[in-house]
Amino acid sequence: MPETILRLALPAPVWGLFDYLPPRNVDAQALRPGQRLMVPFGRGRRCGLLVEVAGGSGVPRGRLKRVEKLLDEKPLLDAAHLEFLRWAAGYYHHPPGEVLMSALPVRLRKGRPLLRRAPNRVCLSEEGAGQLLEGLSRAPRQQELVRWLLDAGGCSGLEALRARFPTAPAILRALREKGIVTLVHEWEPPPTGKPLQPGYALNEEQQAVVESVSAELGRYGAWLLEGVTGSGKTEVYLQLAQRAIAQGRNVLLLVPEISLTPQLVARFRERLQVPTALLHSARSEGEREQDWQLAASGRARLVIGTRSAVLAPMPELGLVLVDEEHDPSYKQQEGFRYSARDLALVRAHRAGCPVLLGSATPSLETLKNAAEGRYRWMKLRRRAGGAVPPAMHLVDVRNQRQEGGLSAPLLAMLEETLSGGQQAMIFLNRRGYAPVLTCYACGWLSDCPRCDARQTYHCRWHKLICHHCGSERPVPKACPACGAEELHPLGQGTEQLEQVLEQRFPRYPLVRIDRDTTSRKGSLQRLLEEVRQGRAGLLVGTQMLAKGHHFPGVSLVAMVDVDGGLFGADFRAAERMAQLIVQVAGRAGRGEHPGRVLLQTRFPDHPLLQTLVREGYPAFAAQALAERKAAELPPYSHQALLRASATRLETAEEFLQQAAEVAATLAGSHIAVWGPVPAPMPRRAGKFRAQLLLQAAERKPLQQLLDGLVPRLQKLPDATRVRWSLDVDPADLY
Ligand code: ADP
Ligand code: ZN
Ligand code: ZN
Repeated sequence: MPETILRLALPAPVWGLFDYLPPRNVDAQALRPGQRLMVPFGRGRRCGLLVEVAGGSGVPRGRLKRVEKLLDEKPLLDAAHLEFLRWAAGYYHHPPGEVLMSALPVRLRKGRPLLRRAPNRVCLSEEGAGQLLEGLSRAPRQQELVRWLLDAGGCSGLEALRARFPTAPAILRALREKGIVTLVHEWEPPPTGKPLQPGYALNEEQQAVVESVSAELGRYGAWLLEGVTGSGKTEVYLQLAQRAIAQGRNVLLLVPEISLTPQLVARFRERLQVPTALLHSARSEGEREQDWQLAASGRARLVIGTRSAVLAPMPELGLVLVDEEHDPSYKQQEGFRYSARDLALVRAHRAGCPVLLGSATPSLETLKNAAEGRYRWMKLRRRAGGAVPPAMHLVDVRNQRQEGGLSAPLLAMLEETLSGGQQAMIFLNRRGYAPVLTCYACGWLSDCPRCDARQTYHCRWHKLICHHCGSERPVPKACPACGAEELHPLGQGTEQLEQVLEQRFPRYPLVRIDRDTTSRKGSLQRLLEEVRQGRAGLLVGTQMLAKGHHFPGVSLVAMVDVDGGLFGADFRAAERMAQLIVQVAGRAGRGEHPGRVLLQTRFPDHPLLQTLVREGYPAFAAQALAERKAAELPPYSHQALLRASATRLETAEEFLQQAAEVAATLAGSHIAVWGPVPAPMPRRAGKFRAQLLLQAAERKPLQQLLDGLVPRLQKLPDATRVRWSLDVDPADLY
């Protein structure tokens, strides 16, 4: 009789699955794909996922090891989800073990037992509170706790309660016995919850989208919702989710890293009042796992998450919403380099449900798909609630005197805005004081010792820091090359803007938002709250400021430098810059005052910039698409990028040369193999990097080439001397 063989996905950088013998004392026939198993691996043990139960193995019987332990009673992932993940592993040509395991929360990947759900919230029951307090007059601590809950509006998180009352467990036990409080899970609408709020009466364009999508619930279909900032896209998501949920379907909402804010979550929670799971990297491992379980069990009717949420199992998936579909944070940039936006479409297709991609500035990929009829293309042309779109102006800064990077026209407008009681936002995508420190005497520059880049001057910390590898050193007292006593900052960063503006406008409180001021948990929310309440007149920041935030008091938005995007090394630089400009501009004039947008540039005649400012994003996108088409660049072609790094540049290039030769034998004439070439920044963190670009007009031949190439990469003569990775549909060519 053939012996049962278990085929496992294990987190290892190896192509394929691993064969094991079933554990002793377990009926192998009762094992199901999706269960976790602990197995001996190398010199240690590893947790893996059962993928197939097979009747034999290509590995000789004597070399097969035995599974040590079965970890789960029931599968964590169902067959359909396993198949989806294996498809993704195939498409991105990434080891299936790593792909499958990345769908699990961290604790579960490590082989830990499933967390049991614990209640996390205490609520007063519905009886009259005054009566309760009287009845408790002989139990002062219980009375105190009830009073505290009353002050908190009837409910409180268990953690806050424990922090306030050290003996909370005992007090709560007594109160629960009397039926005065109940313990609930946060996702359960609290028993004394506010009444369901009605949505807005939708305008015609919004209504058309909601009707179009909800008519197709129950089968696959893709929509592009192109809606200018503030046009009420979120309102459309809300009402669509409401309809899907009312039909018993579960909803997945993907949002970019930066826009998953407490305000957004509260908006969905309050409106829908359904069990909601939040999958967000900023949460603790325990919280994430609890919410993951909620999603995986189907009990969460709504899952809101960032990129990796697209990998979470959701059995009753009935609608997928992708907000800001163009956002680069949807692309994973290391390890399993998937695009969550693209996988969202695949998931919806497999689940047989609609998927809606929303954006004010759709990616060129998505616009092409919409134009060719693969997506239904719906538009929201006006801002909801009547606010008018902001006017954009270019400020030519050639031959202009500037103060810390700010031109006279910009300073004048700031003055006018602030003295009129409005808020202004100044945007620069560079943190620190200045991107370079230099010596006027000899031309010395603050080079990073480990990268082909400069170290940034940080004034407050009195340090030079490399933003690519993190290397840092104290600011030298004199020029390290010639000994001259003075060193000078070149260019501006947000820290410098803050200083200049504080000196110039001392009466107006300023808030700076970038990675340096928001590294501590909760600090971003605190700063945003200060702005929202109007306590700060000036708001300085990096692109962290660009997304989603709604500041009704901001009527002026300025971008200090838009030129980087016009001549960036990557062919997507202009697209990114245009999206950023429109997003940033979208922060202006969302309240009752009309907004103004100032863009400082040294190339005011640049055609793409002109088109964007005069005719708007759709015209810009059409022009950029035509350029891509002429140059046969994505989305008019498909790419895969093979990267390699080593201690010497030649080593990385030799490995890629070997790969290029294999690729050439496999590729027909319809695939271009470019390189190897050094990466745009060849040296980074002490390693030398090179790359090989594969490009084809069609997806299929490229996939076929990769199918043949990838298994052979591991065996190339120089494979062990480099670190290599493959990026299918790369979002950046560096
Ligand atoms: P977007 O997501 O497109 O930026 P939002 O959905 O956040 O836009 O809507 C922008 C503002 O307009 C919000 O304050 C929202 O409450 C309001 N709004 C949305 N839809 C309507 C509507 N139909 N009627 C009135 N106000 C609306
Ligand atoms: Zn010098
Ligand atoms: Zn560096």
